[in-house]
Amino acid sequence: MSKYPSLENLNREQSDALEKGSFLIISARKEAAAMLRRAGVELPEDGFGFRSPCFAHEDGHGRCGCRDYEGDGGTCLTRVTVDPGTTPVPVRSCGHPASKHRGT
Ligand SMILES: [Zn+2]
Ligand SMILES: [Zn+2]
Repeated sequence: MSKYPSLENLNREQSDALEKGSFLIISARKEAAAMLRRAGVELPEDGFGFRSPCFAHEDGHGRCGCRDYEGDGGTCLTRVTVDPGTTPVPVRSCGHPASKHRGT
């Protein structure tokens, strides 16, 4: 028998549920982070786990540089730098779905 059901092989309804569920988790984290900010807590770079960085892997680039999900449940709109080593630094938007920002 296979180990876990692969998230790559979900049917339409299942992947919709996955995206919506992922967005709920991300929204809850955002709300929690906003609550801390209102209380005057400065979040560190790693966000205390309150951020939702992108875990998508790009061929030839490694992990996507996106640090936090921005969007309304669709693909992420966060601008990320592609290669900080070159000038001008190329920028694109993350473009990965909410399900890639869930963390592990
Ligand atoms: Zn992103
Ligand atoms: Zn991404």
